[in-house]
Amino acid sequence: MNAFFTTPLAQADKAIQSSLTHELARQREGIELIASENYVSRAVLEAAGSVLTNKYAEGYPGKRYYNGCAAVDEAETLALDRAKKLFGAAYANVQPHSGSTANQAVFLALLQPGDDILGLDLAHGGHLTHGSPVNMSGKWFKPHFYGVKKDDERIDYDQLAETAHRIKPKLISAGASAYPRIINFNRMAEIAREVGAYFMADIAHIAGLCAVGLHPNPLPLADVVTTTTHKTLRGPRGGMILSRDEALGKKFNSAVFPGVQGGPLMHIVAGKAVAFGEALTPGYKTYIQGVVDNCKAMAKGMTDNGLRLVSGGTDNHLCLLDLRPQALTGDVVTDLLEHAGITANKNMVPFDTQPPQKTSGVRVGSAAGTTRGFTESDFHQIGSWIAEITHAAKAGNGEATAHKVKAEVARLCEKYPLYQGL
Ligand SMILES: *Cc1c(COP(=O)(O)O)cnc(C)c1O
Repeated sequence: MNAFFTTPLAQADKAIQSSLTHELARQREGIELIASENYVSRAVLEAAGSVLTNKYAEGYPGKRYYNGCAAVDEAETLALDRAKKLFGAAYANVQPHSGSTANQAVFLALLQPGDDILGLDLAHGGHLTHGSPVNMSGKWFKPHFYGVKKDDERIDYDQLAETAHRIKPKLISAGASAYPRIINFNRMAEIAREVGAYFMADIAHIAGLCAVGLHPNPLPLADVVTTTTHKTLRGPRGGMILSRDEALGKKFNSAVFPGVQGGPLMHIVAGKAVAFGEALTPGYKTYIQGVVDNCKAMAKGMTDNGLRLVSGGTDNHLCLLDLRPQALTGDVVTDLLEHAGITANKNMVPFDTQPPQKTSGVRVGSAAGTTRGFTESDFHQIGSWIAEITHAAKAGNGEATAHKVKAEVARLCEKYPLYQGL
């Protein structure tokens, strides 16, 4: 027997096994509110940890550069068929290693360096890859931004239209990382048509909602749709490109490989196929309905207890707590939440005057907790704990309150076991 193929990690590398055990305990014992995170199924975990990691498969099913691709072709074809069915797309590419890489490939396919692009301002909920000066998208292209209105904190489509008509961008992007409301893809597609721009919808966060119809699906309206597969879609960490246009699809295929990537991660492609299969079942629609209902319950838990949310509430899987009324910063509150066993992230709020290392906001989401089984009343309770800790932070006894809440968090988590048998 060759020990190389049979020695378990726990024996082969105790240091890394210890890091895995440590992380599993953190996931089991704490409440995960990071809006971009989720828990994958045992089945997805198995595919992602499979022997498919060994295979080079540059190219696409049936058109590979290396031999021996029959089995991985089956897996990628299943992933493609399921992705297209899930979103009603004519074209899909499941090879992008991440959401950022998917966006990079789209820009490579449709734009020339120096072209004007128009996207949602990072400070108003946008993403780095939509033209931020620290990202390639902002260095190689000429970025312009639209934002939200000061009064209702919803996207200012009139300002978007005005800017689009003035600068005539080559591409307009929709999509956000911290926007709690429905995005009007109809209006944005119309503006893009008026000015002759490509319309890209990046649904990285809301993909699961779009797939089941709890957020409008941009597929029929956009020239291209990009997404991650690991947020509400609940698959392995990765990206994907979709389109209704097969001719554009050819360009995206070349842009992914050989444009920005080499060999695809076939174990992850298989994991994506498993997750898409799960998303096509009726149970997934029930799950996403739960995500939306639970997020409203968590929002109510916060507003019932005197906190302010950006735009006053949520239509989707996340809400954005505005700490300006308490004159607190996001870094302080998220550290206290972590001490209570609640993981969230600090986040800029629109018109924030704090720097990104501090921020005036906290972003929280319901995707992971809903997978775990938390109910609406659990989420209302979680919202109340966030309020309790925030008020305590303001009063100067944040640590003591976090310590008290931690015991209650532990009791809740014990009711909903995670990955039994791992
Ligand atoms: C998360 C996200 C991405 C990037 O995904 P990564 O997989 O982290 O690269 C892109 N766009 C939006 C809107 C996102 O929220």
